[in-house]
Amino acid sequence: MDNNEKDVDIKNENINEENKNINETETETDIKEESSEENFSIKNFFAKHKTSIKYISFGIVIFILIILFLTIFLGDKLADANLKNIKTLENIFKEDIGVVTLDPGHGGEVPISAPDLQEKEKDDVLKLCLLIEKELKDRNVKVIMTRKDDSSVELEERAEIANKNNSDLFLSIHRNISDVGDHINGIEVWLAYDKGEISDIYGTNLHDALLASHIQSDRGIRYGSMTNPKENYKVNGLTTMPSALIELGFMTNDIDNELYDAYMSEYAVNLADAVVKTLTYMNENK
Ligand SMILES: [Zn+2]
Repeated sequence: MDNNEKDVDIKNENINEENKNINETETETDIKEESSEENFSIKNFFAKHKTSIKYISFGIVIFILIILFLTIFLGDKLADANLKNIKTLENIFKEDIGVVTLDPGHGGEVPISAPDLQEKEKDDVLKLCLLIEKELKDRNVKVIMTRKDDSSVELEERAEIANKNNSDLFLSIHRNISDVGDHINGIEVWLAYDKGEISDIYGTNLHDALLASHIQSDRGIRYGSMTNPKENYKVNGLTTMPSALIELGFMTNDIDNELYDAYMSEYAVNLADAVVKTLTYMNENK
């Protein structure tokens, strides 16, 4: 009897085990059904929204193309722009009003008449030219620099850079040295003696800009060169557009040096305005 009961128990156990297996199989089937249902609904979703998906994909492609266009065609302008305000954003899409080659005098190993002031002149004029460059770009003027660092550039090459870039104006910045005495001070604007009316108007605008700035004294508009009024400084003579060379104060005079350091930004703003005034005149009288 005991044995029989045991047998029945074992059978029951087997049946339970079988039921368990069946349950497990059912659960697997359920999972399979569920996932095939899911696949079906994703397919359904794509089928249902085929047109919308097409439009969205098309939109993404157009967006990428616009970004590519902006990067390739406006990259330089965007890089140059100071994206601080809306006015600058407006300027990005405005046309340039002209091309100006800016020439920070000397640089590298190009010697000057007072070797102990060589470092000072090339640094002073580069600093100012970089400020003028920014002011001009803010006013929609395309700027070409003959040097942007301490490199040596020959005078002929500076003129060539301006000529080959079809510049409308050329502006060279220098600082003066006196071998007479350290009391000599003031600014000079040098023009080519033979470049005509627009060159003279340009020189007058630059001169006025300096007279409206903090300077110690005015030494006037001059023609040719220190040694000969009928022999132009090379950059004025070899450039094919109206050009000017400014001697912005004497490095041998302490007050001129103090003014230069204190009012460099003012010089940059006023000289940029003078350039724009000249370009505007040129554009109106083409
Ligand atoms: Zn110089």
